[in-house]
Amino acid sequence: MLPVAVCPCECFYEDADMVYINPEECIDCEACIPECPVEAIFHEDNVPAQWVHYIELNAKRSNECPPAESP
Ligand code: SF4
Repeated sequence: MLPVAVCPCECFYEDADMVYINPEECIDCEACIPECPVEAIFHEDNVPAQWVHYIELNAKRSNECPPAESP
């Protein structure tokens, strides 16, 4: 299953470029992490250094984009 489909909080949002997780709505259950086909989801405390700049972008865009649709 894709991450969007397993999330119990429906806190995924998306635009044409990527998918975002709203950090205020996410309950940190981590159900989505093993489901990501490109291993692109990390708990905020475990984001690799080269991706840390995405934390702020993720928070901003998750409040601007429409909900991601579950396939
Ligand atoms: S960790 Fe957050 S985004 Fe991932 S499935 Fe759980 S609530 Fe949803």
